[in-house]
Amino acid sequence: MSIQQMISTNELDQMVVEKLASQMRGKLIQPGDELYNEARKVYNAMIEKRPGLIARCTNTADVIAAVNFARENNLLLAVRGGGHNGAGLGTCDDGLVIDLSEMRSVRVDPVRHEVRVEGGCVWGDVDHATHPFGLAVPTGFISSTGVGGLTLGGGVGYLTRKYGLTIDNLLSVDIVLANGSFVSASAEENPDLFWAIRGGGGNFGVVTSFLFQGAPVGTIVYGGPIFWPLEHASKVMRFWRDLILTGPEELNGWFGFHTVPPVDMFPQEHHLKKMAVITWCYTGDMDQAEQVFKQIREIAPAAMDFAGPIPLPTLQSMFDGLYPPGLQWYWNADYVTDLSDEVIDQHIRYANQLPSVHSTMHLYPINGAARRVGNHETAWSYREANFVQVIVGVDPDPANNQRTIAWSKEYWRTLHPFSAGGAYVNMMMDEGQDRVKAAYRNNYPRLAKVKTKFDPQNLFRVNQNIQPSEENRD
Ligand SMILES: Cc1cc2nc3c(=O)[nH]c(=O)nc-3n(C[C@H](O)[C@H](O)[C@H](O)COP(=O)(O)OP(=O)(O)OC[C@H]3O[C@@H](n4cnc5c(N)ncnc54)[C@H](O)[C@@H]3O)c2cc1C
Repeated sequence: MSIQQMISTNELDQMVVEKLASQMRGKLIQPGDELYNEARKVYNAMIEKRPGLIARCTNTADVIAAVNFARENNLLLAVRGGGHNGAGLGTCDDGLVIDLSEMRSVRVDPVRHEVRVEGGCVWGDVDHATHPFGLAVPTGFISSTGVGGLTLGGGVGYLTRKYGLTIDNLLSVDIVLANGSFVSASAEENPDLFWAIRGGGGNFGVVTSFLFQGAPVGTIVYGGPIFWPLEHASKVMRFWRDLILTGPEELNGWFGFHTVPPVDMFPQEHHLKKMAVITWCYTGDMDQAEQVFKQIREIAPAAMDFAGPIPLPTLQSMFDGLYPPGLQWYWNADYVTDLSDEVIDQHIRYANQLPSVHSTMHLYPINGAARRVGNHETAWSYREANFVQVIVGVDPDPANNQRTIAWSKEYWRTLHPFSAGGAYVNMMMDEGQDRVKAAYRNNYPRLAKVKTKFDPQNLFRVNQNIQPSEENRD
């Protein structure tokens, strides 16, 4: 069976389009509609796509109608959760976008500690709902990212060392498949599909709802960023590497290089200075927190220290303001197992060349609980790595793209030989099949098999694509 040619939405009869609109409770937005220009935007302003139709779904029936419509009319289909993907994989040119941004309910079961989350939620919706119960779903480091894309790609965040990746806390999903059928997937039901969606991205269908196990983190954690001048970066980075590889799992902290933004919350003398930053999150015994941070505060004199007791949702949303939608965004990632002294020296060389206020490099720990899951238990295949590394060239002004992208690429090229090989799919640009295969390593053939079973025509192809294969067809 060959994969069919896509057709343009321009070739569709308006009667056919109106039939879809009549089947939906949500709006079907078209070029020329008042909502169109706002609706087509995604987080990364470098991505300028013009879909032919945007189906703003409000429920599962809308999603089923839109999936069937795309398949029956051979349209290119994109699925937009939070719209945050760096490569812009929540939209497409000309085809149909299933926009889940109105499917944002969250229901917390405070007895079972389970959290039911609709497919278009962002993490701020979830944090808001779980916080009063002293619960949290392990997620990322910012509240505006979508639950859909982040979860399906893996999910790395403040609670990873203690509770694992977001997928390690996923109990089940409800999903609309390429043939329009609606199924659940969990360890008991459709286990092959459940294996694949935990890391395999949006390749297998549209997830209309996720069921997570909430973590009992309480309402207050001890965390926030501590900034050190770059002259201390070498010492601070080595200390952090050793602490994060051996320290208690309740302690997490991602390492970054940042230029201090010239805004009121920072003393003027630090404005526009390049610094090493660790943003901490400690979920252990609050009485022990000052003691745990004593050793950290003794590494070297900090320029600014914002760590202290803080509600988790406040910590989660602390960087939202620095990284609002509409920036020009380009990034390169890798998994890293060994962060040697030699590699640290290279990092510091590039930190001295940060090309804009928003450009940055982050290292996120993925050891601890995430490590205790095997490489073949879910589609995420780098459980032995210690860090996700991402080099981000960002600026509001497109005129600076050449500079920020060149810095990010050169930095990545220098460090890549010291990496574990592949990258976290959620932090890749559109980099082609070799990089997708490197991300999944020997889980790729199994993913291709599940893809062939559930999406043989590759309807869900606007993603880090797992390709169905002839040899896997029945
Ligand atoms: C500022 C910023 C901070 C970030 N921080 C973190 C972090 O701390 N930790 C981390 O792990 N990642 C982080 N990421 C990466 C993030 O996980 C990815 O960008 C992810 O793709 C975002 O998901 P989304 O739903 O917002 O994206 P979208 O652009 O909407 O979608 C991304 C992909 O997921 C698919 N998809 C989305 N929702 C669904 C659904 N319900 N069903 C099926 N497919 C779906 C889409 O089709 C697309 O292929 C960050 C990204 C940014 C830009």
